[in-house]
Amino acid sequence: MEFEQITVQNNAIIQRAIPVLEKLEAHGFRAHIVGGAVRDLLMGRTIDDVDIVTSAKPVVVCTLFPKTFTMNNQHETVIVRHDHHLYEVTTERNGSLQSDLMARDFTVNSIALKSDGSLLDPLNGQADLHNEVLKSYHPMKRMTEDPLRMLRAIRFTSDLGFSLDRELLNTIITEASKLQHMAIERVVKEFYKLICGRHRNQALETMRETKLYHYCLIPSLNNVTINKLKQLPHLEDYSEEITWTLIIKCLGLDVTDPLKSLLLSNQLTKEVRNRLLALSYREKNEWDLLALYTASRDVAEDVEIIRQLSGQPYLSLKDLTTMWSELPITSKKDLNITGTDLIAHFQKEPGPWVKDILQFIEQEVVLGRMVNDKHEILDALKVRGSKNERETTEDLS
Ligand code: ATP
Ligand code: MG
Repeated sequence: MEFEQITVQNNAIIQRAIPVLEKLEAHGFRAHIVGGAVRDLLMGRTIDDVDIVTSAKPVVVCTLFPKTFTMNNQHETVIVRHDHHLYEVTTERNGSLQSDLMARDFTVNSIALKSDGSLLDPLNGQADLHNEVLKSYHPMKRMTEDPLRMLRAIRFTSDLGFSLDRELLNTIITEASKLQHMAIERVVKEFYKLICGRHRNQALETMRETKLYHYCLIPSLNNVTINKLKQLPHLEDYSEEITWTLIIKCLGLDVTDPLKSLLLSNQLTKEVRNRLLALSYREKNEWDLLALYTASRDVAEDVEIIRQLSGQPYLSLKDLTTMWSELPITSKKDLNITGTDLIAHFQKEPGPWVKDILQFIEQEVVLGRMVNDKHEILDALKVRGSKNERETTEDLS
């Protein structure tokens, strides 16, 4: 790898961030791109997000840019929205760029890039990038002042394929237990990234070697489940819903309450739970129209992808699409009858009965046993009503 020539102009994502740097500079402040963006630029990798460090205080950053947001738990960071993109702008620690860089987690994350393309690299992170080694400046200090960095170290090896510097590795081995005091949501975020990395299996072996898995707060992460996780295919191209479902399956967590302890968002928890339920349905059954309708198309598609990834027989996307197109309705909204219609027709007070009948109608329409037409539905209900009455009278006699 050669780093002398920084081709900032060739990188659209970096290029887009330059006006943010220039605005801060124009007001007399230092401003640099730091962290993952510089590292990924130097490695020729795709850049996800651009983090900026500046000598301006957060209140000043807020006044310089028209669209800014602050986060409760990160007082020194302001999110700046510029040209439809978000930038995390953080004030330099200890009022100096050099000391901010020296206090960062790893040398490869401690390189700063100025708007003119020049680099500041006080810890010679470029040499470590070149040698593909993840190293910390004073690892004992770095790892103990924020023990999450131990897990970050291993997740970076998973992502980048780097080896861990010996001193850093030894530090993780001796300090591993400190990870258990970290906030679970921070840990889970890093663990997720570790699982998604190209070099996941090597990273999982390091988790084992350092015993960090033991303090990782992930339920049921042990020697057996690590082996299961190692058998997963590469997951970088799959959605969060699919990836989490696969992780939960490997960990063998309870389907009824799988993610609560991981503190994932409510929405993600719901999506994963739906996939787990549909997966266990599919273990014993083929899709039928009602099951497909109930699961929803997205869930059914993901279930088949997960089955394919797990080496189980699966229904192709094409067949699933054909089956989906056979559904008379694809959501409750498609029903040509409403609760108001039912109340008017039966001339009864609104109540839970409306929901019950609507649910029944929905099921009958999906199964093709009722035609999705208001009058046909009301007629069918009438026939059914008098049939029920007859049966009740017969029962009584
Ligand atoms: P990714 O490509 O996954 O976004 P990243 O290096 O950008 O990787 P982030 O978690 O986005 O990682 O953090 C941005 C930068 O902030 C890092 O490169 C690092 O310099 C610094 N940083 C983040 N978290 C920590 C931490 N816990 N300790 C020290 N520095 C950190
Ligand atoms: Mg980042």
